[in-house]
Amino acid sequence: MKTILFLWSLLVAALVTGTLPAEEAAGKINVLVITGGHGFEEEPFFQIFKENSEITFTSAQHGKTNASAYERDDLLNYDVVVLYDMPKNITEEQKTKFLSLFEKGVGLVVLHHALVSYQHWPEYEKIIGGRYPEADGKGGAVSEEVGYQHDVEVPVVVLAKEHPVTAGVKDFIIHDEIYWGFRTEPDVVPLITTTQPKSGKPLAWYRTQGKSRVVYLQLGHDHSAYENQNYRRLVANSIRWVGRQ
Ligand SMILES: [Zn+2]
Repeated sequence: MKTILFLWSLLVAALVTGTLPAEEAAGKINVLVITGGHGFEEEPFFQIFKENSEITFTSAQHGKTNASAYERDDLLNYDVVVLYDMPKNITEEQKTKFLSLFEKGVGLVVLHHALVSYQHWPEYEKIIGGRYPEADGKGGAVSEEVGYQHDVEVPVVVLAKEHPVTAGVKDFIIHDEIYWGFRTEPDVVPLITTTQPKSGKPLAWYRTQGKSRVVYLQLGHDHSAYENQNYRRLVANSIRWVGRQ
């Protein structure tokens, strides 16, 4: 009993003096959220992460010219990296850093427009499990074959009903942006889809890359999506599933 009391007082002292980070002590998932290369409503977007009590998060933004956020010294210290970015270019060094995530087993959650990143790097498509192929190299062109549309009522259908990523989520409707004409890799497992006729399908999938789990979620253009409780649950479940292996 004395030993337990002693250990307990050590722990409390460590917490008080800050020698043990409080988040680590509480077992929170350590998340790096990467943005840059595409605009978004910052305040409501980051609320998704601020209001997730299971995680502690750091936000990082790429520079203008390439995927510079991967050059962080602490990149491999995170349990999960969330991509809400859309850079066009990535240097060889940045590719190496990005690929090191999967040797370590860091989980990857890829959201929305990150499906458009690195049009000239085929390996990225394999890793995240798909690609929105830009028609004009700028992401702006809309055609019958490939395009996007804002402010659509999207009926979401849960496919993988027993999967941890869809836990607590039943079919729902979300006001969001749709994409069509995107491709998926043959090894992805679909999680959710839609009956919206124009939208590409599926709307979310997962795959494994090296030691890591990867989830892609197409939804999430603006506050209408960010504030949707089913969307939040999908994001939180994805972070938990890829981060707690
Ligand atoms: Zn969008």
